[in-house]
This record gives sequence, structure tokens and C-alpha cells, in this order.
Amino acid sequence: MDMHFSTADLAFRDEVRGFLAAELPQHLRDGMNGTPSVFVEPEIGLEWQRILHARGWLAYQWPVEFGGTDWTPVQRYIFEKECALADAPALSVLGLKLVGPVIAHFGTPDQKARYLERILTGQDLWCQGYSEPGSGSDLASLKTRAVRDGDKYIVNGSKIWTTHAQYADWMFCLARTNSDVKPQAGISFLLINMRQPGITVRPIIGMAGDHEVNQVFLDNAEALVADRIGEEGQGWTIAKFLLENERGGSCAAPRLLADLDRLDRLAGAQPGGFNGALGHDVDFGRRLSRLRLEAEALEMTELRILGELAQGRKPGPQTSLTKLVASNLRQYVDELAVEAFGYDGLQLATERPLYGNESPEPIGSKPAQLAMPTYLNSRAWTIFGGSNEVQKNIIAKTALGL
Ligand SMILES: Cc1cc2nc3c(=O)[nH]c(=O)nc-3n(C[C@H](O)[C@H](O)[C@H](O)COP(=O)(O)OP(=O)(O)OC[C@H]3O[C@@H](n4cnc5c(N)ncnc54)[C@H](O)[C@@H]3O)c2cc1C
Repeated sequence: MDMHFSTADLAFRDEVRGFLAAELPQHLRDGMNGTPSVFVEPEIGLEWQRILHARGWLAYQWPVEFGGTDWTPVQRYIFEKECALADAPALSVLGLKLVGPVIAHFGTPDQKARYLERILTGQDLWCQGYSEPGSGSDLASLKTRAVRDGDKYIVNGSKIWTTHAQYADWMFCLARTNSDVKPQAGISFLLINMRQPGITVRPIIGMAGDHEVNQVFLDNAEALVADRIGEEGQGWTIAKFLLENERGGSCAAPRLLADLDRLDRLAGAQPGGFNGALGHDVDFGRRLSRLRLEAEALEMTELRILGELAQGRKPGPQTSLTKLVASNLRQYVDELAVEAFGYDGLQLATERPLYGNESPEPIGSKPAQLAMPTYLNSRAWTIFGGSNEVQKNIIAKTALGL
């Protein structure tokens, strides 16, 4: 495997770098660095989304006819890496990376015309209605029911852990339309308007004090039959397509590596700082190096998967492997940051300014006050998108044949 970038790739990298230097405003970089979550709030994300859309680089993985870029896997990776290095806001994946490709692949011409452009422009924000109280890992057991009534479905049930439902205009939802067949065959994929009387969104406040997830109640909510993606009962196939996309195109390593570099710089800049001379601490250095090696190995695997996807091959259990490794690494990196920042890292952002009068400027681009909220928030990595145990089961069955 040749790991050197071609001349064309290097030229593309310079083009992306130039664009980021010119077009990514400092306040959006600051917004990203002030975010403890996986992706930024819409007030930060939408501005960056508009800038990327104007450049034609927003939905690079979509088919070209709907706004995709036709980049090679290496170009995609270079783009993600440069964005991570430049502290570009991590945009919500819900519309752009999850439901967008589903509509582009399975939608009718009318559905494509109605929804895709509005995702790109940020006019419609989306949330994902898969999990329910009692149905997470075992998603096929979901109980939310959709009963056909003329040209619409009446939907009743509850969805939980629904990220950014408080902002969403639409939910892509798995609902049971038939209970007389095997569980997977009775599920349909519906687009549900969140701005209707049958929808209630109840916040769930996370350990770090953030409002990221919700419980959504559907009480006689309505979904148009014209807003069902695919056939009735095809929801499971579509849900799997979406999950494979979610895991398959993952580019977690660039941000991990960028965060490790940042941590390294911070440690080096702290001769007598928080935990003493961290830059010279052998144990800290050893752990940092080990994490960097693991993140680089992950980067190679992610690149290999992108290559396989580009050749039309399904990467299979490798995507479970990268999800598992990336989730663990994310937590180890955030844990090391908390240890590095010691006492200061334990202060939540709302408490006293870091370093008091001695050093009014937070050191580095990620303020130490955010280390603990980020650490707490990243506990979720080993749960969402399929928990670690579920990924291990998939690897055991499909890769190891156990
Ligand atoms: C921050 C966050 C955001 C989320 N956002 C969304 C969202 O936007 N939309 C959405 O639909 N969902 C979302 N989820 C839900 C997420 O997908 C589920 O939490 C996840 O699938 C696990 O389901 P569960 O919570 O019901 O746990 P359970 O499935 O009940 O699992 C509980 C424990 O048992 C283990 N376990 C379960 N089954 C097995 C098994 N067969 N073998 C071994 N161990 C097993 C699990 O690993 C876990 O440790 C989000 C979750 C989090 C934490």
C-alpha cells in the first residue's frame, strides 16, 4: 500500500488549506473549540455550512447530481484532516451524512426535490428517531406504531436519546407498520414533520450539563404516505444502509490526531503548570505516544475502508472495528486531557476563569475548562451508533466466525 500522497493530492491539500485560511472565521474556530460535544450547535454549524455550500464542498459524499463533489477517498480524507487541523466546526451528521444519502438513494424524484436542497441550505434540520425506551441495541423490537389512514399514517410511541430534536424540523423515524410478520419485516422508514401538535420534545440533560439529547413523544402524530422512504416494510433495509454509511465513511482519526498534537503542545508549554513539567513527564509522554500510534493505525484502516467503498465493495466488519477503536481512543484522549489539566480540568466552564490573575489567557486553543465536560460527554461514544459490546458481537460473528 503506497501511503504517499500524489502530486495532485498535495495540490488539493494546498487548495483546502488555502480555503480554510481564507474562509474559516476565527469565531467559528473558537465555537468549535468551545464545544464539548460530538458536533456543534446550529448557531455555529449553520454559518460554516453556508460557507461550505457556497464553495460546493458541503455534501461531498452525495451523488454529484445532488451536490456531491466526486472526490476520491484520499481527497475526502484530506478534506476531513485539514478541517480537523484548522479547528473547523464538526457539523451535525443527521441531515448531511445520515438521511441525505438515504433520500438520494431510495427517495422518489419528488422526495429528492423536496428535501435534499433544504438540507444543504440548512433550511431543514433533522433528527434520528430510531432508539426507544426498551429498544436500543435490539432495535428490531421497536414499538412505535404507524397505522395507515388514507394518505397518511397516524404514529404513536416514543423515541429516546434523540440528538438535537429540540432544533429539528423533521425526524427520520423507524415505525412498526405491521405486527404480523417477523419484527424486521414490519418496520417502515417515515419522515415526520416535528412542527405539529402530536410531537412533544422533552430535554434530557447530560452529565456535563449540556442539552444534546431528548425524549420525543408521538401522540397521534401524522406522517404523509408520500413521506415514506421506500416501500412499506422496507424500513429495516434502509436503516441498515444508513447505519453502514454512518460507520463506513468514518474519519475519526484526523480529529483524534489533531487533539493529541494539541495536548502535546499544551504539555510542552507548561514548564511549571498544572501537573508539573508535563512536557518532560515520561509516563505522560509514553501514553501520548501510544495513543498517537493507535490513532495513526486507525487512520490507515479508515483510509483502507474509504478505498474499498470507492471501489463499490462493502467493507463489512471493518466498520465495526473502526467504530470500536475510534470510540475507545476518543475516551482515552479525553481522559488524558483531564489528567493533564488536573485540578483546572475539573472546573466546569461556568466556574472561575482558568489560572486566575497569573495567566488570564487559556493556554492552547481548547480551554482547560472544557476538558472535563468533553470527557464526560465522550462517555457516550461507546454507546451511540451501536455500543462497544454490539460491535464486538458483530466482529465475533462476521470476522472471527464465532
Ligand atoms: C449521546 C447519545 C446520543 C444518541 N443519539 C441518538 C439519536 O439521535 N437517535 C437515536 O435513535 N438514538 C440515539 N442514541 C441511542 C443509542 O443508539 C443507543 O443508546 C444505543 O443503541 C444503545 O441502546 P440502549 O441505550 O437502549 O442500551 P441497551 O441496548 O439496553 O444496552 C445496555 C447495555 O447492554 C449491552 N448489550 C445490549 N445488547 C447486548 C448484546 N446482545 N450482547 C452484549 N451486550 C449487550 C450494551 O452494550 C449496553 O452496555 C444516542 C445515544 C447517546 C448516548
